[in-house]
Amino acid sequence: MSSRPDFGPKPRLGYSDSRIERAAELRVDASAIEAFARGKDAGAYVIGGDWIVMKKGSPINEPLFSMSEAQALSPATEMIFLGLLDGKPRFGHGVEPQTADALKSRGELHVTDLRSIAVQGLVAPDHLPPIAEAKAVLHWHARHRFCPNCGAATALVCGGWKRDCAQCKTEHFPRTDPVVIMLTSDGERCLLGRSPRFVPTMWSCLAGFVEPGESMEDAVHRETREEAGITCGRVVYFASQPWPFPTSLMIGCHAEAVTHEIVVDREELEDARWFSKDEIGTMLMRRHPQGLTTPPPVAIAHHIIRAWVDDEVRFD
Ligand SMILES: [Zn+2]
Repeated sequence: MSSRPDFGPKPRLGYSDSRIERAAELRVDASAIEAFARGKDAGAYVIGGDWIVMKKGSPINEPLFSMSEAQALSPATEMIFLGLLDGKPRFGHGVEPQTADALKSRGELHVTDLRSIAVQGLVAPDHLPPIAEAKAVLHWHARHRFCPNCGAATALVCGGWKRDCAQCKTEHFPRTDPVVIMLTSDGERCLLGRSPRFVPTMWSCLAGFVEPGESMEDAVHRETREEAGITCGRVVYFASQPWPFPTSLMIGCHAEAVTHEIVVDREELEDARWFSKDEIGTMLMRRHPQGLTTPPPVAIAHHIIRAWVDDEVRFD
């Protein structure tokens, strides 16, 4: 008889399930985007590097500003057309990081980083995907003001979804960096690791960037072998999550362990070890005797781990 605890309803994955219709066909129409920006229904998220500017509220903050409110805070470094929400235009209004930092002194505003906003639930959940979209694209613009091909200045076009180089005519598109994040298991146990960057009690899935010329499955095999010395067999896809820190796409997987002896790469990880389903259950419930935890529900790692404990993983 299983005495598995009831983990309650599955929480929503952060930054995902965007309600924005990106309306990519409109991006080439500069006059239409300008008309959208002048419309009374238009709204903008004000972002400076890692800082998200919000109107202070209780219990949650309001991150959406009217276009004139956003402009009054600071002229935009870049303006991104994010798309339409129920027909209403939404924009990313980029400001310099130091400008956003200076806005922290304004009593009517709350300025903080997106991780804190997501983990602490500081805005309505539907705002997280468009903020993630705007933050990632604005980050890309801030680092592509000059052409990597010839060094000339580039110009924002297509509502912020392209930069053109007038000198060498190269077109530059915003990039997304794929990362595999995987839970390797041998049936009864799963492998978790600790990065030195984690809070002291947290253990999570192993993860790493997919390299050029590498499949998702190859990356899962390589990263698990490199970081923990474990050889994986079959790999199954679970779900993905945009991760705008700065521009990643997390590709969640489950992998089947075919070896069991862990050899930790101490350059990458502080530690790695096997966990039983019972122990993971206590971590998910925040009842672990040593206070060990899994990542919060905003992160895909939480969902990957929970699916395994819930016996939802099938390799055949
Ligand atoms: Zn160029």
